[in-house]
Amino acid sequence: MIPRDRLRIAVQKSGRLGDPSRDLLTRCGLRFRSSRDKLFCFGENMAVDLLLVRDDDIPGLIADGVCDLGVVGRNVMQEASLAAGGEASIQELRALGFGGCRLSIAIPQDQEWNGPQQLASQRIATTYPHQLGDWLRRNDVDAQIVTLSGSVEIAPKLGTADLICDLVSSGATLVANQLREAVVIMQSEAVLAGAAETPLDERGDLMELLLRRLDGVLNVRESRLLLLQAPRAALDTIVDLLPGQPIPTITTIEGQPEAISLQCVCSGNVSWQELEAMKRAGAQGMLVLPVEKMLA
Ligand code: ATP
Ligand code: ZN
Repeated sequence: MIPRDRLRIAVQKSGRLGDPSRDLLTRCGLRFRSSRDKLFCFGENMAVDLLLVRDDDIPGLIADGVCDLGVVGRNVMQEASLAAGGEASIQELRALGFGGCRLSIAIPQDQEWNGPQQLASQRIATTYPHQLGDWLRRNDVDAQIVTLSGSVEIAPKLGTADLICDLVSSGATLVANQLREAVVIMQSEAVLAGAAETPLDERGDLMELLLRRLDGVLNVRESRLLLLQAPRAALDTIVDLLPGQPIPTITTIEGQPEAISLQCVCSGNVSWQELEAMKRAGAQGMLVLPVEKMLA
């Protein structure tokens, strides 16, 4: 590995993952100045730079040591590692909770699905030949894989394949092409990928700092800060009603010995029904606030 004193992260230049990837890194406290050609963004406040590339290139850039980290779909990462013979030169460090989709086999709308054996000797169009091949082997199915570089969903209409194996999120593209999802091969989302080995120079420390901040952002994404006041006598009932049984901080209110103020971080949103139940128990002045960062 070539020693470098700045960390380099590959993110998708445009496309579905581009903006959310950069937003997430910004929330981790990184600030970037984009250069004129916009392929390289220099990190202004930390020694962390961005390389803006096609998502398909990200696993290779990490494996070759050109970038230390990358934000890429698990589907792209797994395809690359199967293509490299399952060699673990890169690893998934964190699941990032956006870019969710599934790699599925879809069949013509008017066909029934009776299980994998129905795929025997069919032609399946895909841009993910390794993952499809792997799934077919595991299910003991002998089908023909037609590898395409894009527009997979129109292959059955064009007669170049009988069915397809492609990414699905809402399913609208399938419906528009008279196809229906038959079986899910893998669940995907954007992940932070890194080399199997952590660099031993300054980049290792930067990576650790970034992962800690990332956890701080990811862990609180669904969290809410709940604030309320209540009569001291109602405290036990209200604590039992707190969603997710968080540990609350209770403070006294100056001049009101019979009242308390409560604050706690709830994992997940607090519903109207839960707030109403707390109100019936005596709580008032309830506030539910989003949490931006947390450092334990
Ligand atoms: P690039 O120009 O970078 O090669 P692309 O066309 O290959 O872009 P996008 O369509 O932007 O890539 O998809 C990027 C990733 O978004 C996919 O690899 C996948 O992980 C995720 N994704 C989420 N939902 C979908 C979907 N419905 N279709 C395709 N990809 C999806
Ligand atoms: Zn791509």
